[in-house]
Amino acid sequence: HAAKRGQAGISFYDPDTGQLSDARVSFQHAVERALEHNEFMLYYQPIVNLENGRLVGAEGLLRWQDPERGLLPPSEFIPLAETTGWIAPLGECVFRRACSDVKSWQQAGLDLYISVNLSASQFNSSELIDQVQNELKNAGITPRQIELEITETAVMEDVVRSTEIMRRLSTLGLRLAIDDFGTGYSSLAYLRKLPAQTIKIDQSFIRDIDSDPEDLEIVKAIVALARVLGLLTLAEGIETEAQYHLLRDLGVDLGQGYWFSRPVPEPDFRQQATRWESPPGDAVSRG
Ligand code: C2E
Ligand code: MG
Ligand code: MG
Ligand code: MG
Repeated sequence: HAAKRGQAGISFYDPDTGQLSDARVSFQHAVERALEHNEFMLYYQPIVNLENGRLVGAEGLLRWQDPERGLLPPSEFIPLAETTGWIAPLGECVFRRACSDVKSWQQAGLDLYISVNLSASQFNSSELIDQVQNELKNAGITPRQIELEITETAVMEDVVRSTEIMRRLSTLGLRLAIDDFGTGYSSLAYLRKLPAQTIKIDQSFIRDIDSDPEDLEIVKAIVALARVLGLLTLAEGIETEAQYHLLRDLGVDLGQGYWFSRPVPEPDFRQQATRWESPPGDAVSRG
């Protein structure tokens, strides 16, 4: 496996030709340089309590500010980082940044948590638990200030193992969320045992929720299921006031989306958080 060799620090060979792949080599150099030059940034998007409009946390979303190519979204580099083994140092950099940002928010009087995405290989890494523990300690924050997001698909790949890893993370006190829920194939029997707090309903169900009766019924069913299992629900990708109000009325606990804010750089998020009163649109109706 290229990924395994990458993690061991050995060169990358094209599995088809057995040659060092040029694309991989140049990608390696680019990532190495980018880490050195701090070109990776975490943007933050508000996580909102839908019932009262309060800001409760933020999801950290990775961006690569490349001097030549501009601002790159994760889809442009995470998949390659996965197959070249660069996801491990990148993930460490993300986690460390999230810990230090949440610490500085706390010092500024902002009581918020930061939610961080883990890819399947990070989640399955034997070093995850130790690394998380070390970083929390170094940053001097409590585990409740960090949430880890793992996709439903990744969890269900090996649900027994996933449950065990999540149990250990949960014992440490971290928050856990199942990301992109509804796109994978959850085993309900195991969902019951997962020590997560939150399920994040994938944005594909939210996009047309006010016009597509099937999406509406699916979201209703997820909310009912979550209630039974004692999990919080979060709707991803809320883009309109109508979606926001509908989801709130359905009893979805939390929300994220462009309606509240796009992901923004840390200084902008901090400013937004400091001034946060209620989501846009609500200020008017509440007077
Ligand atoms: P995700 O965790 O499901 O994140 C939600 C994605 O939806 C983000 O895309 C976000 O910018 C976007 N989004 C938020 N609100 C809206 C909305 O109202 N409408 C629409 N259309 N989109 C919205 P982004 O930032 O491009 O991230 C894509 C994916 O990349 C993430 O999906 C996550 O799986 C992955 N990712 C992001 N940061 C990291 C990271 O630090 N590590 C790892 N391993 N994966 C990451
Ligand atoms: Mg996420
Ligand atoms: Mg998601
Ligand atoms: Mg996603």
